[in-house]
This record gives sequence, structure tokens and C-alpha cells, in this order.
Amino acid sequence: MKKKKQKETRPNKGNSIYSLTHEELKNWLVENGEPKFRATQIFEWLYQKRVEYFEEMTNLSKGLREKLNNSFSITTLETVVEQKSSDGRTMKFLFEMHDGYTIETVLMKHDYGYSVCVTSQVGCRIGCTFCASSIGGLKRQLESGEIVSQVIKVQKALDERNERVSSIVLMGIGEPFDNYDEIIAFLRTINHDKGINIGARHITLSTSGIVPRIYDFADEKTQINFAVSLHAVTNERRSKLMPINKAYPLEKLLPSVKYYNETTGRRVTFEYGLLGGENDSVEEAKDLANLIKDYDLNIHVNLIPVNFVPERNYVRTERSQIFEFERTLKDEGINATIRREQGHDIDAACGQLRAKERKRETR
Ligand code: SAH
Repeated sequence: MKKKKQKETRPNKGNSIYSLTHEELKNWLVENGEPKFRATQIFEWLYQKRVEYFEEMTNLSKGLREKLNNSFSITTLETVVEQKSSDGRTMKFLFEMHDGYTIETVLMKHDYGYSVCVTSQVGCRIGCTFCASSIGGLKRQLESGEIVSQVIKVQKALDERNERVSSIVLMGIGEPFDNYDEIIAFLRTINHDKGINIGARHITLSTSGIVPRIYDFADEKTQINFAVSLHAVTNERRSKLMPINKAYPLEKLLPSVKYYNETTGRRVTFEYGLLGGENDSVEEAKDLANLIKDYDLNIHVNLIPVNFVPERNYVRTERSQIFEFERTLKDEGINATIRREQGHDIDAACGQLRAKERKRETR
């Protein structure tokens, strides 16, 4: 990821050392009369050796270890639930934070390696009508360290099997672009070669379509895979499914996607969740293709067979209809795939495990 001058402060920064980017850690060291190069040593202890106590950082002076210990904590997440799917390919974690709120993280085994799906906020205020994450609204933002910590926790579970997290998707609970600065700090740390060192092309960020942040993110010029949840081809239907569309309707959203294509040179993914009888007709597939062509976008469409959420009323599109939708797009010259599904038996759809466990939360 390209380095950019960082802002002086981020409002949600707490005391987890995982919240500090390499740059910020260097600044802290200088302010505390220590040489900058210690930042790399500390990063190696945190992200490569994955120690849990500053005392273990034996190549640092005792004085520095004490200063670190007085200023920061390492992780603040506690595992409250760890579930494995019956085929062993999906694991779901529910973590409790220092204030009692819970967040969920999913680990998936694919043929190409292990991917982790992280949560970006406690709850969500976007209010998509098919999504479990919005039920209960937004409780609070996550600090970048709490997002980094999810990856470390899952990596530690993999350490036992000598395996490594190879990709990360920001598709858990929350809207990443509603917590922009923390997400950028998170991305810097997981992408840093002395940090978790996950290549940008192995990271995927998905947004519901907060247009000003799409422009900002394009200007970061990263190689990160970028996805937009589209789900409908008319403003009328999209506003019904995703209230964010009232603020950022298609005629604002699609030019920002075009800007993203042009600025980064990268193809964008449209996520399109098929909801039985709502948005899954052949006409809609054709309209989607036309929209992509009219705006001259470079798009891959990822069709999502929607997960049933008990609190929501939608039904699944028939398998044959999903294939027809995909075929229609392809016939129109649009690149499309159907998302493979995993982890049904452990509530792997966004927000479902947390929704069940919410009674545990203190507030
Ligand atoms: N807030 C971001 C990222 C989180 S969700 C966004 O909206 O993109 C990741 C994807 O899962 C989004 O495309 C979201 O619309 C979709 N999703 C939400 N609820 C779903 C459900 N019940 N079934 C299938 N996909 C769902």
C-alpha cells in the first residue's frame, strides 16, 4: 500500500498498541527519547512472533519495555465462542471487548489458503433491510487495533496447525467507510512488511456505497480489491433495500466507481445479493449489464445467494434462476460469478452469531 502522510490524531485511538501504525509507533518512540528503529523490532515481536507481553520483547531495554507497558496494552479481545462447521472448513469466533461488546470474525479455508473476514464496527447504521448487522444499530466504532487483533487472534489459532492467514476480507459486521481512518490504519498495519504482511491484492474491502469515501479511497491508490454492494439497478428498489441510496443514489455512486476504475486502474466488484422475487429477474440482469455499459465501468459481478436472516423476510432465489441471472450477464459480455457458500451450520452470515449472543452485552 502506498504510504501517505498520516493525520496527527485519530479520534477513536485507545491504548492497544495494535492501533499504532509503524509510522505512529516511530513517532511515539521519538517523543519518548527512543530510536525510531525500535518500531521495526516491536512490530516483529507483535506481528511475527506474536507475543502477548512486553516483557517478552527481550531485545528492548528494560526501561523501554516498562514505558510500553505503562502506555499500552497488547490485545483487548477475549474469545467467548469458537465454532467449527461440520466440514471443518469454516470457523467462527465471537470476541468480547473490554467494554463488554462483542464482535465476530470468520476464518475460511479455501483451496488457495485461509481467509479471515473481519468486523469493522460494533453494529452498523446503514440499515440494509436484508442484513442482520443493522439490527440494533451502531453501538460504537472499532479502533484499528481491535480490527488488527481479530486477525492476530485467528492467526494464533492457525499457529497451532502451522498455517498462515493468506487473505483478509472486510465483510464482517459494519460499514468500513463509516469508520474510515481506523480502517486505513488497519490496512497499513496488516499490509506492512514488518506487520502481518498480507499483500494488498489479498485484501478485499466492501462498502455499501458511501460516495465521498469511494473518492478518498481511490486517491489512496492501493492495489486492494474493492467491492461495492449494489443489490439493485433502480433507485427505487435500491433505496428500499439500502437506505444509503437516498443519500448516494446510482447517479452519484456509479461515477465514483468510474473514478475508482480510472484512478487505480483496477476492476471493481459489484456484489449483487439475489432476493427471491425482488431483484432477480432476467430483465434486471439485462438492466444491470446496461448500467455497467452506460457508465463504461470495469466490473466483475459477484452474485450472492442471500442468507436467510430470521428477523428479515426475504426468500432465496432458486438455484436455476441464479444460474440464469449469471448466464444473462455473461451473454451481455459482463464478467460474473456466483459466490460459493460456506459455514451455514454455524450462522456464518454477517451479524448472525452476534445477533444470537447480543444478550451477553452489557449495554
Ligand atoms: N458494509 C459493507 C460490508 C459488509 S457485508 C457492505 O455493505 O458492503 C458484506 C456483503 O454481504 C455485502 O455485500 C452485504 O450486502 C452482504 N449481505 C448482508 N446481509 C446478507 C445476507 N443476509 N445474505 C447475503 N449477503 C448479505
